This record gives sequence, structure tokens and C-alpha cells, in this order.
Amino acid sequence: MYLKRLEIKGFKSFAHKVDIQFEKGITGIVGPNGCGKSNITEAMRWVLGEQSAKSLRGHKMEDVIFTGTDKRRAMGIAEVSIVFDNATRKLPLAFEEVCLTRRVYRSGESEYFINNSSCRRKELKELLMDTGIGKEGYSMISQGRIDEIINQKGEERRLLIDEAAGIVKYRSRKDEAEKK
Ligand code: ATP
Ligand code: MG
Repeated sequence: MYLKRLEIKGFKSFAHKVDIQFEKGITGIVGPNGCGKSNITEAMRWVLGEQSAKSLRGHKMEDVIFTGTDKRRAMGIAEVSIVFDNATRKLPLAFEEVCLTRRVYRSGESEYFINNSSCRRKELKELLMDTGIGKEGYSMISQGRIDEIINQKGEERRLLIDEAAGIVKYRSRKDEAEKK
């Protein structure tokens, strides 16, 4: 399973629709200061369900929507889609490719889609459980994250180990059952 494509429209500095294709292997993104490199990684975290506006360098969620420039009007919607190759069926869906989409409006309301079908954030979270891909999954290591993991307490660090072991979904189902 690998990241195939990222489509960004109206998110942060990306007013125009950009479609980034990733080949197998390593991809490097280079460019001058302020050109939007970090915005790309934030778009990835955001589409996977990030809910903290602060961790996306904003105050509220609508801050991710393109605010406009001298030449271009502000936009009303931000939308990001991320496409994974799912030939190995790592994601438990009968599709060769899985496309996850998130959209946010100026009201701050978010919508989520799995292969263009509307879904709840919870469904997205469950789909990504135990894959390492979620917004806090180990597949995304941001600056400072290693130090954070080293300094975590046992319980917190265990979440990461559970995810790698693939048992988060069982723990989550058990917690749900106990609540009932
Ligand atoms: P560096 O090399 O300094 O780390 P970078 O390539 O990572 O730079 P980013 O931090 O991704 O750059 O991009 C910053 C740019 O994004 C700034 O010019 C900022 O004004 C712009 N930006 C952030 N949010 C928005 C928004 N909502 N609307 C329009 N532009 C935005
Ligand atoms: Mg940066």
C-alpha cells in the first residue's frame, strides 16, 4: 500500500487545484521559503482527520481556507483528497484505490468522503485504525515527534505500539462494548 496522489484545492496557499502524483520510492519536495511545502504535509494530516487548528498553525479550522491575495479572491471551501494504492487490501475495502476526501466551509463544518461516498469522521478513523496512517499514526513523523515519543509516559507510548501491532480496533470495540 502506498500514497499515490494528493489533490489540494482552496487549502492554505493552494488556491489553484494542485494534483501531486507520487511514484513508488522516495519523493522530495523542495522550494523556496514560504512556497507551501509545510502546507502540503498539513493538507495530508488534515484530510486524515486532524482536528487541532493550532497544530495546523491556525486559530480556528476555517483558517485553512485560502484567504486570498491582491490578485485572487478568498475562497469559501477548502478540499483535500488523498489517494492510496490498495492493491494489497490493507484497507479493508474491495477497491484497488482508496480516495479519502475532506471539505471544510467557512462555517467551520467539515465533510468527509470515502471514495466519493459521504461518511462520518468516525468511519474514516475506523478505516485507518491499525494501519499507521491516521493523523497520529507512525507513518507521519513531523518535526519534534521523535523527542515527543521518547518523552512519552508508558500509557501514551503504548498507543503507538498497539497501532503497530494492529490491536487498536479490538481495544476500541472492547471500550465501546463496555460503555453499552
Ligand atoms: P519554509 O521553507 O519556510 O518552511 P514552506 O515552503 O514550508 O516554507 P509554508 O509554511 O507551507 O511554506 O507556506 C507558508 C505560506 O502559506 C505563507 O506565505 C502563508 O501566507 C501561506 N498561507 C497559509 N495559510 C494560508 C491561507 N489560509 N490562505 C492563503 N495563504 C496561506
Ligand atoms: Mg516549512
